[in-house]
Amino acid sequence: MKKFTKRVEDFVCANCGTHISGNGYTNHCPKCLYSRHVDNNPGDRLSDCGGMMRPISVETIKDGYIITHKCEKCGKTIKQHSSPNDDIDTIIEISSNPDFIFGK
Ligand SMILES: [Zn+2]
Ligand SMILES: [Zn+2]
Repeated sequence: MKKFTKRVEDFVCANCGTHISGNGYTNHCPKCLYSRHVDNNPGDRLSDCGGMMRPISVETIKDGYIITHKCEKCGKTIKQHSSPNDDIDTIIEISSNPDFIFGK
């Protein structure tokens, strides 16, 4: 296997299958906004939980949105900044329906 180091992470969303090109800022899916529980605090990558994190609420702020993710495995919640290419329709869905589950 080829060894390589990269600073940004490309990944495939385990919830909806979207391919995400990492930009070094986001670890959530721009389409369904699911995230993975890999951080204890945003960006530190210190958690080994690995559970799927469901977007449960959205707060509007001056320069975007704060998305609250809840881990479906351990129940931890983490707030994250939205990123500019997040799907605005999904953000609106979540903010108007706290029980929103993508694709269901
Ligand atoms: Zn997704
Ligand atoms: Zn977790």
